[in-house]
Amino acid sequence: MAMQPFQAESKKLMDLMINSIYTNKEIFLRELISNASDAIDKLYFKSLTDTSVGMNREDFRILLTLDKENRMLTVSDNGIGMTREELEQNLGTIAHSGSQDFKTENTDENIDIIGQFGVGFYSAFMVADHVTVITRAHGSDQAWQWESSGVEGYEITPAEKETAGTDIILHIKDNTDTENYDNYVSEYGVSAIVKKYSDYIRYPIQMERTKSRQKPEPDPKPENYTPEWEEYTELETLNSMVPIWKKQKSEVTDEEYNAFYKNHFGDYADPARVIVSRTEGTANYNALLFVPSHRPYDYYTKEYEKGLALYASGVLIMDKCADLLPDYFSFVKGIVDSQDLSLNISRETLQKDSQLKLIHNALEKKIKNELNAMLVNDRDKYEAFWKEFGRQIKFGAYSDYGMHAELLRGLLLFYSAKEQKMVTLEEYVEKMPAEQKYIYFAAGDSADRLAKLPTASLVLDKGYDLLLLTEDVDEFCFQIMHSFPRKDAEGKDGTVEFKNINSNDLGLESEEEKKAAEEATAENKSLFDAMKTALEGKIKEVRVSTRLKDHPVCLSADGPLSIEMEKVLSRQPGSEDVKSDKVLEINASHPVFAVLKAAQEAGDTDKVAQYSQILYAQAQLIEGLPVDDPVAYADAVCALMK
Ligand code: ADP
Repeated sequence: MAMQPFQAESKKLMDLMINSIYTNKEIFLRELISNASDAIDKLYFKSLTDTSVGMNREDFRILLTLDKENRMLTVSDNGIGMTREELEQNLGTIAHSGSQDFKTENTDENIDIIGQFGVGFYSAFMVADHVTVITRAHGSDQAWQWESSGVEGYEITPAEKETAGTDIILHIKDNTDTENYDNYVSEYGVSAIVKKYSDYIRYPIQMERTKSRQKPEPDPKPENYTPEWEEYTELETLNSMVPIWKKQKSEVTDEEYNAFYKNHFGDYADPARVIVSRTEGTANYNALLFVPSHRPYDYYTKEYEKGLALYASGVLIMDKCADLLPDYFSFVKGIVDSQDLSLNISRETLQKDSQLKLIHNALEKKIKNELNAMLVNDRDKYEAFWKEFGRQIKFGAYSDYGMHAELLRGLLLFYSAKEQKMVTLEEYVEKMPAEQKYIYFAAGDSADRLAKLPTASLVLDKGYDLLLLTEDVDEFCFQIMHSFPRKDAEGKDGTVEFKNINSNDLGLESEEEKKAAEEATAENKSLFDAMKTALEGKIKEVRVSTRLKDHPVCLSADGPLSIEMEKVLSRQPGSEDVKSDKVLEINASHPVFAVLKAAQEAGDTDKVAQYSQILYAQAQLIEGLPVDDPVAYADAVCALMK
């Protein structure tokens, strides 16, 4: 059979492996062993329902064979094996889901690619100049050989093999000035790598090891007998096989947890938090979970798949079991092992499994408590975490009509204009003066602009704090939560509502002030009607404001939909026509108002209309809204200056 070219992306990846400057080349062994272990999982899983497999749990093993002289290292498994088609498919193209994204990545940064995705089988080419794979699929009597010396391509030919499984035979490269490849054909070197990366693999990883012992003493023992030594070999199991998630937390070091996380979940950074959780109440399980310290590159896309690896009594049943995690904790990675799950459970029945639901609930509570502990005990770390995943948690509080808000609200952080840092809602409420009626917030995309809003100073000048919300989900989240618990003056449980500072009644004005403004609005009715007419239904009403000090105008919203929410919704297809009810508030003690009034009294309707347009446009700009007709606005301002 002729040489086949690699699929283009595989070729690129392979080239990268061969010329890799990656210093951590030893991880190739971890990758090959993990493939072997997966292949065994598959056959073992089959054997549970299919007696024709004829294998027991203890028959499975991964065998490493060294041939120092010929610089060969072989990794053999008695797993499921591959058919000719699978061989072609799996080793001729990049099957690895993570590596697929490799094509969009910068090829200069090969270190990151290896670190982030793990590269599976192809990593063998970091240490080998020739790789041969001999494999026989379970249930087939024909074996196949795949062979390649690098980027030129590969060849597949029929081969002989007694039993099902796969041998990966590596011809290890010669040493170079910078790299000592001898390590990969040394018993000591190889066993150390296995211990380091693959200790928890649940099948024995075995290797013949050379040992020496004293020869038996001859009987009778001659005089001047000097003991003689001989070498012998013994098959040794290199790994301890106890999965790390079954070990007590005290038995495992932070480094081991971190190394496990990075190897298993293909991350280059240590996790932000390790969570070890065991049987809680009626749910029977061991879980080892990790909160990553940074978001995966595809986290906020549809491609991201949440889920935990699910094991039933140590056997992997599903790589990413989504039902174990709520969406708002979808960033959590990890493993759950339960002895209460049946091994041959299917995906469909799993969804309805009550045990799974119990585990889900226990984990949800556990993750929440751990995040809370991080918030309380390690604030900097929590804030770094919040930058990465906070948005997801806010979506969680908002989703399902706020069903999870109570669970999540304690985890939320928002920027405080007064404190100039992130605060929790609880911290906000604790510092509220007794007479403060609301939790004030301003929403928009720039915190700087929000802090300068005319109404912001009104709140801050009173000594009240103001939360600046800059993500689109924030205000929706507040709206669905509606209020936050607060003890009243007598220490009784009560609640305090959220208040957008551009809503109508801020609860800051005294009754007299409100009354005076209402009267002033009534007195100026004809002027305000003229303005409303000039603005052609863009606003619901013009009113004398109780809250403007230095600015002539501002916009406020009447009703449940705020101006910021209108902005967010108008970006979504189908919701373009959603409009808030806007009120143009006017500062009656501002010189501009006097000018407006004079124009009205002089019967100059054109001027009133022109001024109204300008003031409305200004109010829009202050709110961060686009001006309806920027050219007309610019012309109108110019006309005034002439
Ligand atoms: P990944 O393991 O991440 O999918 P690899 O490049 O390491 O990516 O392997 C590609 C595929 O080749 C695997 O998904 C598996 O189907 C197959 N494979 C690799 N090694 C073995 C093996 N020892 N036995 C059976 N199949 C294997």
